[in-house]
Amino acid sequence: MRRHKLPTETFLESAQRQLNICNACRYCEGYCAVFPALELRSTFTEADVTYLANLCHDCRACLDACMYAPPHEFGVDIPATLRTARDAGYVRYAWPHRLATLLWHHPRASVAVATLGGFVAALVAESANGRSLVAGRSGPGSFYTVIPWLGMVLAFGLAALFIIAVVSGAIVTFWRSGTVRPGKASWGAAWRGVIADVVPLRYLGGGGPGCPYPDPDRPSHGRRLLHQAVLYGFLLDFASTCVAAIYQDILHRMPPYPVTSLPVLLGIIGGVGVIAGCTGLLHLRYAAWRLRHERPAPQDVSFVAVLNLVAITGMILLILRATPAMPILLDLHLASVFALFLTLPYSRFVHAAYRVAALLRNRLEEAAQPQLGAEDEGVAA
Ligand code: SF4
Ligand code: SF4
Repeated sequence: MRRHKLPTETFLESAQRQLNICNACRYCEGYCAVFPALELRSTFTEADVTYLANLCHDCRACLDACMYAPPHEFGVDIPATLRTARDAGYVRYAWPHRLATLLWHHPRASVAVATLGGFVAALVAESANGRSLVAGRSGPGSFYTVIPWLGMVLAFGLAALFIIAVVSGAIVTFWRSGTVRPGKASWGAAWRGVIADVVPLRYLGGGGPGCPYPDPDRPSHGRRLLHQAVLYGFLLDFASTCVAAIYQDILHRMPPYPVTSLPVLLGIIGGVGVIAGCTGLLHLRYAAWRLRHERPAPQDVSFVAVLNLVAITGMILLILRATPAMPILLDLHLASVFALFLTLPYSRFVHAAYRVAALLRNRLEEAAQPQLGAEDEGVAA
């Protein structure tokens, strides 16, 4: 019997129908973690679809290989279906829901308003100090003559706590929604497996030849390298901030620090990585537009763009920090960091956290399979 895509089917019904077709077909089971995980299920709840969606890294290999892809009447498009499910999950699990809906659906306006608002707030704070916006300032503590140290700590410390609360709350809700049966699986072994997946971004290697996104005829490791540049650049920048805090609060050495100091070197290497990675990922999005006729979603562009803006303004500030442009550049840099922080829990950044959780669940499920089989045999006996 041939099953047709009904014009009235909901998104969940469409996803369930496509996943059932994949479960019967199984042609793509070697491509990624999604297909072995879906083969463990005979039915798919909304939580299952969201879980599978976060195992997908959107490489499009299954779409390129699929004989039931549009224009076939079955209309199987697993990457698009899982992308929609992923995005819906990011909003559904985020808190507060109204803010998540607003910022997710208007990412460019959110970034623009937050950056402008942060910039104006920095200018007002600076004017309240009675200082000229273009006065040359140098020497230890010169940054804090622009924005007082306490103001920076309060604004960004509260924003960081907000990010941690929203993202960790979303991941807990996502985790609890799952139907994982870890049995006696070792959590230590599962975490070691996740680290082995995440550190080299293993799945973006496409099992050897590289990722077929954006060009299915030329798989490459470019996408993996660009993601690594962003990931490790971001971590180095975070390390730079931590080391600078130790310099200031424990060693009592006030910024700005020399170019050869550890926090500045970490910041330079991390900043270059973030700029190279973000610029390259934006290039891939526009290459996909040309090659696959896929217009980039605003959410795809805005998070990468604001992260790139933070890194670029940070590097310009480093180069021009001893000039009269320093106060304005510092205001601009802090405004872009503020926009990043405010929009981060409602942007594609959360993919990193969801993906780690999905990979952990996947490792636990895989480890539980022999035990589940033994349990089933016991029941049958
Ligand atoms: S995506 Fe297509 S080819 Fe791949 S398993 Fe599903 S139905 Fe089969
Ligand atoms: S797009 Fe890539 S990662 Fe996603 S389900 Fe298809 S093959 Fe797997």
